[in-house]
Amino acid sequence: MDSEEVIELEKKFIMQTYTRQPIVLSHGKGATVWDIDGNSYIDCFAGVAVNSIGHAHPKVALAICHQAQRLIHSSNIYYTREQAELAKLLTGISPHDRVFFANSGAEANEGAIKLARKFTGKSEIIAAENSFHGRTLATVTATGQKKYSEPFRPLPEGFKHVPYGDLGAMADAIGDDTAAIILEPVQGEGGVIVPPEGYLRDVGELARQNDVLLILDEVQTGFGRTGAMFASELFDVRPDITTVAKAMGGGYPIGAVLADERVASAFKPGDHGSTFGGNPLGCAAAIATIEVLLDEKLPERAARMGSYFMARLRQVLQGCDSVRDIRGVGLMIGIELDGDCSRVVDEARKMGVLINCTAGNVIRLVPPLVIKKEEIDAAVDVLGQVIAEVQ
Ligand code: PLP
Repeated sequence: MDSEEVIELEKKFIMQTYTRQPIVLSHGKGATVWDIDGNSYIDCFAGVAVNSIGHAHPKVALAICHQAQRLIHSSNIYYTREQAELAKLLTGISPHDRVFFANSGAEANEGAIKLARKFTGKSEIIAAENSFHGRTLATVTATGQKKYSEPFRPLPEGFKHVPYGDLGAMADAIGDDTAAIILEPVQGEGGVIVPPEGYLRDVGELARQNDVLLILDEVQTGFGRTGAMFASELFDVRPDITTVAKAMGGGYPIGAVLADERVASAFKPGDHGSTFGGNPLGCAAAIATIEVLLDEKLPERAARMGSYFMARLRQVLQGCDSVRDIRGVGLMIGIELDGDCSRVVDEARKMGVLINCTAGNVIRLVPPLVIKKEEIDAAVDVLGQVIAEVQ
């Protein structure tokens, strides 16, 4: 099948929920991907911040292969070695001591919301405006962007939104029925919004003073993306619950709710579950992925490469009138333009660089953490040229 045939079949048989780029990807290595026509691309999108350890990492490929030959699925009615080992690893690298396994970010957030309500016996969840927490009914309602939830009314009750970064508004929003606050440490889909200095730490303090739980949605920021294993370390905040997914399985779909024992013990047998959550294949992929992250010191690398990437962007884009801001943490970088950035995405792709436009006018760069300096240089050159041309 050539690329035209693939695209034709997609248009005919798949629900049209995505605005896709017109290329058909075939394989990848590190931060490079190839399409089926043989064109190569520097991948600054990484499958929406998923392929952090690089495409087709041999250790993850091997772990998946070995596991697939032994036991792909078992259900949670039985124990598996892989699940126990992964849970131990996750509690070792995160601030938490209990794990619930899910399959995606939205599902992890659903689990966190249920856990917070069960633990506190209260219902209200405070989230931030402009946030993104997933596509299930509860998580689109938590998401602070109406375009994701309005068409799907009626929505679940008990969600409230406050401006991101405004501690006073958060304090005012907390009431007698507040169970939890849910925040992204850096808003991703919302346009790579880095919170003001001290905000997350102060929200953590506020939550503690009011007996409200703090859920950090680290689905996008987790596993080294921001230059620390979890962004909570970077921002000096101690969440009660952390949700993770995306980069966790090296590309294999797996997510988790991580919580403190005190909170986690509210879940009793039968309270929550998932057929596939934490299946041996996903766990084997995630164990190998976390080992790669630790062995190759990828969070530290993300911090170094992120600084380099941002400095190079500032250098090259300094004369561009259309560039309003360049911001980010680690390898989670946003270039805010003064208008729509979809043409920049198209032109960059034609020149061999994959990027994404979020919030309408923000170019989001979330490359694999293994991206090389030369690849950053090449991507920056293309972006400089394309942004200047489009402007
Ligand atoms: N939370 C955040 C912060 C995200 O960025 C996303 C996805 O982009 C999600 C949750 C939802 O994750 P998933 O698409 O795996 O359900």
